[in-house]
Amino acid sequence: MTGLDTQVMYVRGVGPRVAELLAAKGIATAEDLLYHLPFRYEDRQNPRSLDELRPGEMASVIAEVRGSALLRTRRAPIFELTIGQGRLAMKCLWFNGSYLQGKFLAGQTIAVFGKVEPSRSTSNFKMIQPQWELLPDASADAETLLLEVGRITPVYESLGGARLASRWQRKVIFHLLESLHASQPGAIPECLPAAMLERLALPSREMALREVHFPPEGTTMTTLQACNTPAYRRLIFEELFFLELGLELKRRKLRERAGIGFETNEKVREAIREVLPFHPTNAQKRALGEIVADMKQPTPMRRLLQGDVGSGKTIVALQAMLVAIENGYQAALMAPTEILATQHFLAARKLLERSSRKYRVVLLTGSLDEDRKRLNRALIHRGEANLVIGTHALIEEKVEFDRLGLVVVDEQHRFGVLQRFRLMKKPHQAQPDVLVMTATPIPRTLALSLYGDLDLSVLDELPPGRTPILTRRVTGERAEKVWEFVRKQVKQGRQAYIVYPVIEGTRADQPELDFSPEKTQAAQSLTKHATLKAAKEGETGDLFPKLAPETNPNIKSSLKSAVEMYEKLRTGPLQDLRIGLIHGRLDADEKEVIMRRFQRGEIDVLVSTTVIEVGVDVPNATIMVVEHAERFGLAQLHQLRGRVGRGAARSYCILMTGARVSEDAEERLNAMVRTQDGFELADLDLSMRGPGEIFGTRQAGLPDFRVANLVRDRKLLELAKQEAARFANAPAQESEGTEAERARVWARLKEAWQRKYGLVEAG
Ligand code: ADP
Ligand code: MG
Repeated sequence: MTGLDTQVMYVRGVGPRVAELLAAKGIATAEDLLYHLPFRYEDRQNPRSLDELRPGEMASVIAEVRGSALLRTRRAPIFELTIGQGRLAMKCLWFNGSYLQGKFLAGQTIAVFGKVEPSRSTSNFKMIQPQWELLPDASADAETLLLEVGRITPVYESLGGARLASRWQRKVIFHLLESLHASQPGAIPECLPAAMLERLALPSREMALREVHFPPEGTTMTTLQACNTPAYRRLIFEELFFLELGLELKRRKLRERAGIGFETNEKVREAIREVLPFHPTNAQKRALGEIVADMKQPTPMRRLLQGDVGSGKTIVALQAMLVAIENGYQAALMAPTEILATQHFLAARKLLERSSRKYRVVLLTGSLDEDRKRLNRALIHRGEANLVIGTHALIEEKVEFDRLGLVVVDEQHRFGVLQRFRLMKKPHQAQPDVLVMTATPIPRTLALSLYGDLDLSVLDELPPGRTPILTRRVTGERAEKVWEFVRKQVKQGRQAYIVYPVIEGTRADQPELDFSPEKTQAAQSLTKHATLKAAKEGETGDLFPKLAPETNPNIKSSLKSAVEMYEKLRTGPLQDLRIGLIHGRLDADEKEVIMRRFQRGEIDVLVSTTVIEVGVDVPNATIMVVEHAERFGLAQLHQLRGRVGRGAARSYCILMTGARVSEDAEERLNAMVRTQDGFELADLDLSMRGPGEIFGTRQAGLPDFRVANLVRDRKLLELAKQEAARFANAPAQESEGTEAERARVWARLKEAWQRKYGLVEAG
């Protein structure tokens, strides 16, 4: 008897060999197969007539094969297929199309899908590289006819070559649905309470699965393509509901754990007053108030402090850390890069020197030499270090704190690390409080829904005395003008950054960039289901996705690199200035020396890669030049620009591009010129790339979704969050659904989180 958990091998039409191929695609059970959804549909109920096409639109057309030819050209052979309806004809072209020879016979019926292009030849239109499928002729078996023609037909991503393409999947899935239906009632068990479905007007799971694969007659194509049919809404809601329910539970579990109830008294307040270098903004006061209120609770704090670049998160964190320290605990600050850790270390030490109390601040990063690491580890272990600042090394080097009270994670999206903080404390001790700081202005609703287990504080105000940054786009041809401007500004006592996408001319071993071909391909083959999967974990430890998706790995040769340009500028246009070079391949000490010299004003112009993109704070630097700006993502450009405009002097951001810029890049650059509002930019970034690309689903501890898309489905995400809270928190007698239904929800939650999301919290 077939059930959802039946091994896919035993599904009719599959068998052991195909099952192996499917396994490679992550499809192990009948359920997995059912959740491999079509990525588009073809309306074969009402086929389009060739004379109603409009150039530029995507269209699917059913027509008769008339003839074909292989056109030899100097570059690649082009396969040309002529198809027609009555007197009307259209050409379809495939480059490198030799493989198509002999595949078509005149008189066959074919469905093609592609962009309609105007054509100069006899036919009015053509399609270039359309997707195609030969339709069965009248002699085919009834079932094939049923699935292929006269209906809305699902089109699937192939699960392995031509053999496991759409046609195969239609049949297998059709039979699977039939046999599940026939074998026993409830073979596709409902996992949500009936009362909830009724209230939200959503169909059953079985109906939803059936209808996403085989939409009922009369479904409109636009709702279908927008994944907005009841069937889609049901499956999306279900997926997001279990995500939010899991987050809700995580949050409740955390609340039950023992944390530290810090005290704030006059002594603590005095300690803060002694070091505070300026009046905090109202936003900073509010955020600190929220953080301290959490810290006083005996349950562990998990709070996200969100503030655009330059909003002054660091000082808020420092004050929170002083609360912990004055209570006799140690505080740790974790930064994503060595440069940033070092900068925080130097700044914290300088600030705390103003205090009459003797605080000990210690740095711990991976590339410190072994002796210093050993010494610092001992200081931490013995409790002599009050404030510890470092990188991931704090976790990786198995540093054990004597009394860890507060962990602050700066500029960090890899929320997965949250779970690993327990490594840093002694086993019997209470959970430290955790504050995560992010400059990525995640739209508020999305942040709350995604990081449902974190509370949120927002710095929505910049410190006073900032002047807006002037942003300009120029093409590389005007470089001379740019260098002249830099020279002028430096003469007036200012400093500049000049940023390049790569360290040196080759792509090998360049921590700032990751051109790995799978990644680029993955990013290019974005289909609606693949969007989230495309974001692979960055190996560099950098925070933002490295490159815009359309980046072509083959155009490296023309890229200017930091090392080359450093030499060129130093000996050419900027020879009378003091120039420094910094990139990810320098070791920690070298980076520290250079950053310090730049901070002290001993370097006028810092040539750099994106290593400086987050957190670096030198208020006297007022010029940010980004070369090859079209190659950077929006979040990255916004971060880079955030390095300037930190003082009272007028600041400039100059985005230099090549002569030709892709459409997407055009949109990004225009947005940068238009606005400085991080939230607006983040919204645009989200809609252009999707959150998986931005946060890295794995890095953020987020699941790959089977159906949902967090940007498209923002509304359903909100609904799912509300429903999850309602379900989890309702007292049994008021809750929706029978006891059995509720039990099924919990069972499903456990299974979903363990199997699919791998998000089960350890310990
Ligand atoms: P970010 O939120 O990007 O981490 P920082 O914490 O680096 O921002 O702060 C940006 C700059 O603003 C720093 O130079 C910091 O000293 C300064 N700053 C922060 N808060 C204030 C304030 N209330 N008044 C004046 N300057 C401030
Ligand atoms: Mg910062």
